[in-house]
Amino acid sequence: MNGEPMYELHEREVLEKLRELNVRKVLIQTPEGLKREAQFLAEFLEKNSIESLISGDINYGACDPADKEAKMLGCDALIHLGHSYMVLNLEVPTIFIPAFAKVNVVKALSKNIEEIKKLGKKIALVTTVQHIRELNKAKEFLEKEGFEVKVGKGDGRISFPGQVLGCNFSAAKVEAEGVLFIGAGYFHPVGVALATKKPTLAINPYSGDAIWMNRETERFIRKRWAQIAKAYDAKKFGVITSTKKGQLRIGEARKIVKLLREYGKEVQLIVMNHISYQALEGFDFDAYVVVACPRVPIDDVENWRKPVLTPRELEILLGLKEDYEFDEIAG
Ligand code: SF4
Repeated sequence: MNGEPMYELHEREVLEKLRELNVRKVLIQTPEGLKREAQFLAEFLEKNSIESLISGDINYGACDPADKEAKMLGCDALIHLGHSYMVLNLEVPTIFIPAFAKVNVVKALSKNIEEIKKLGKKIALVTTVQHIRELNKAKEFLEKEGFEVKVGKGDGRISFPGQVLGCNFSAAKVEAEGVLFIGAGYFHPVGVALATKKPTLAINPYSGDAIWMNRETERFIRKRWAQIAKAYDAKKFGVITSTKKGQLRIGEARKIVKLLREYGKEVQLIVMNHISYQALEGFDFDAYVVVACPRVPIDDVENWRKPVLTPRELEILLGLKEDYEFDEIAG
């Protein structure tokens, strides 16, 4: 393969670890954005006499390790790229390589310091795993600028202090006037703003842009209320959970089924691995509730022909809640 990988893979350490574990065959699992890195790593390991298989299935999180597949394929270990360790009962030794981004976050903070000051003196600092290694540098920089910086430990689903996942914002819930999120994309900072109900500023370390989340959050809530309204007349509900290890919320799914029955609805529990609207096409339900990854009913909602809600949104629909609440998976 030509060129350098964009993320640090620590391939020498990985090789050492695999040798320690006496691994002869390994399965490499990757998210969409790290396919080249997976290929680079496979080539490197093959050159060092470790047979390497790349899983072609796209992975979205540490909640979905391919340990069972690795075992089935006779692999001695799994390498999970792009995400950090999550406490799950894994069937083969698994090495998580979080793929830290090679980008200087302090530069973007320095550029936006006047905007950051609008958050107040006492701020919570959070990021995704890609920038977690830079979090200390960011904290030191902000403290030198006179801020009191809080980095929350988070609950058991989180691997590093200050880390947020698309389904868990526990590290952002600390005593602070506002939250500073470092990272790209909208989903995480919108989740942070909704979970903390505090002013949230997102700084993209790649572009150097700073975006206040209030308008994004309002837009997000408006769209979700539209989904809730679409499900208003629904009589037959499909409640879906996923067999992915870190997304299986069977207890909560059963509670939702019970709740819907109490409200006189027809309801069926559906279990599937990869939840997609295409796979549900043949069913005759009026609406769905996804009790798995909270991104599923949100990310490509426009493609679903039927309304699709999170468990928290269903509670609003049934009149059990008034304020919008983000669906989180606690650890
Ligand atoms: Fe990410 Fe969804 Fe998995 Fe949470 S459940 S780690 S948001 S893919």
